[in-house]
Amino acid sequence: MVLTVWGARGSIPSPGPKTAHFGGNTSCIEIRAGKELLILDAGTGIRELGMKLITEGKISASILLTHYHWDHIMGLPFFAPGYSPNNHFRIYGENKAGTSLRSILDGQMSAPYFPVRLDEMMSQMEFIEISANQNFNLGDVQVSTYPARHPDSCVSYRINYEGKVVTYATDTEHSQEIDPNLLKSARDADVLFYDAAYTEDEYPKKLGWGHSTWAEGIKLARAAKVKQLILWHHEPSHTDLIVKKIEQMAQKEFPNCLAAYEGMEIVL
Ligand SMILES: [Zn+2]
Ligand SMILES: [Zn+2]
Repeated sequence: MVLTVWGARGSIPSPGPKTAHFGGNTSCIEIRAGKELLILDAGTGIRELGMKLITEGKISASILLTHYHWDHIMGLPFFAPGYSPNNHFRIYGENKAGTSLRSILDGQMSAPYFPVRLDEMMSQMEFIEISANQNFNLGDVQVSTYPARHPDSCVSYRINYEGKVVTYATDTEHSQEIDPNLLKSARDADVLFYDAAYTEDEYPKKLGWGHSTWAEGIKLARAAKVKQLILWHHEPSHTDLIVKKIEQMAQKEFPNCLAAYEGMEIVL
């Protein structure tokens, strides 16, 4: 399994010289697992992934969406392979209070927000509604979903291919007790991507915003016996210097820990 990070930022893109190392694009991870191509979230990072994919010919991929806050879907209208009738995408996500996955994604592309509608993207798109606490297969890849703690709800994905496990736990807020759902999602994972948006000092001002901290990521990683922890969903105001400092603090307590950056590749 090969994972590539195309966007590691949270909330809003934050380009510029102060964030050039970790990157300003929002959530997107490419996963190659045998013949399967999985894309986790469609934040602005998916635009550049798309530019790479169009050089590879006909594309078939599964796009797994955690939720529909802008930072996780706003790259989709700029995903070039989505406009070619040769390509086939299976898009997974929850419906929200009866609003279908398809209508939710079309909503961000309706006038006056965007001039091209979802059905004008000419690729073959299937919309598959899932919910938390579900298991399904994508070829030889097993996927399980768990609820995360986040406003408007969010799912975490546990992805297992030939015994290697990746857990994607973005946009989640901790509480006193370790979240039993995330514990299941991350149990013995080779890699855990965890929402480390805030520092311990910042968090008290952001209670209820649905995000967490690096120290809580370490608590979960230890409890779940995770091998590698990846700090994820960097706060937009966190410059490279700040993210680097957070990474160093975290590594003192959990040595196999890195802050995600654009272009990061993990081979399992
Ligand atoms: Zn987010
Ligand atoms: Zn969110």
